[in-house]
Amino acid sequence: MHDRSGAALDSRAQQDLALDPFRIAGEPYYRPVAHEVALFEAAHRSRMPVMLKGPTGCGKTRFVEHMAWKLGRPLITVSCHEDMTASDLVGRYLLDAVGTVWHDGPLTLAVRSGAICYLDEIVEARQDTTVVIHSLTDDRRILPLEKKNEVLKAHPDFHLVISYNPGYQSVLKDLKESTKQRFGAIAFSYPVAAIEAEIVAAEARVDRRTAATLVNIGARSRNLKGHGLEEGASTRMLINAGLLVGNGIALAEACDVALVLPITDDPDIRDALRAAIAACV
Ligand code: ADP
Repeated sequence: MHDRSGAALDSRAQQDLALDPFRIAGEPYYRPVAHEVALFEAAHRSRMPVMLKGPTGCGKTRFVEHMAWKLGRPLITVSCHEDMTASDLVGRYLLDAVGTVWHDGPLTLAVRSGAICYLDEIVEARQDTTVVIHSLTDDRRILPLEKKNEVLKAHPDFHLVISYNPGYQSVLKDLKESTKQRFGAIAFSYPVAAIEAEIVAAEARVDRRTAATLVNIGARSRNLKGHGLEEGASTRMLINAGLLVGNGIALAEACDVALVLPITDDPDIRDALRAAIAACV
């Protein structure tokens, strides 16, 4: 590899260059909700693997972006899915003009160069895929690259973070006990109303009154959880509704688009949600 002037780069400089897209330049807005910042900092200091545990759309991804920025570490995020293989994480040989060349996967890049690796919704991945993180999450801190016949020792700054939504847990889809036990867990949930309104106002750029109304609607939808709804409206959905309001859509219609229609196909639940919205606007 060469730099822009054409000079050959040593391996350290090559790694720095490979990490460039993963550095977080500006501070991602994050409103702390409880003690999570101090907890993460403490876990990071000893590189303890961290599980961010909570419902979807409650701020886990934003939090890890904020922490990576605060700690000055690059962040490599992988959205896990059921077709993801261990090679998607670790890497593979690919054929190019010069022959077969090894390409590091995102996990290997993070392990090699000392980034924070965030495996989002890890439970979506198959268990034979998640098992590759085991040797990284105990005191060995190694990643075997079997196809390459290499055992990679993690860079001292490498830190593994996963997110996990206990609401989606089922017998078929759950983390192995032996995986769970390797992590310290930080609990996330929807913030209390005043803080959530602050977040919605900041992110959707709506006034505090509109934000408070949206949060009130969100709380009512969450009360329907277990009564036909798998999850209530997330902070993300409330922000989406706020963005529509900011673009001139009336609040009730904005809520229909951003909150009601995405989360349910059941006409009774839809009516219940619309009634809750009508009571708030
Ligand atoms: P998750 O990863 O838990 O599914 P996200 O981190 O993507 O959720 O959060 C969804 C959106 O909600 C974010 O893009 C951000 O706009 C907003 N958000 C949620 N919680 C916070 C918070 N505490 N501070 C700032 N923004 C937040």
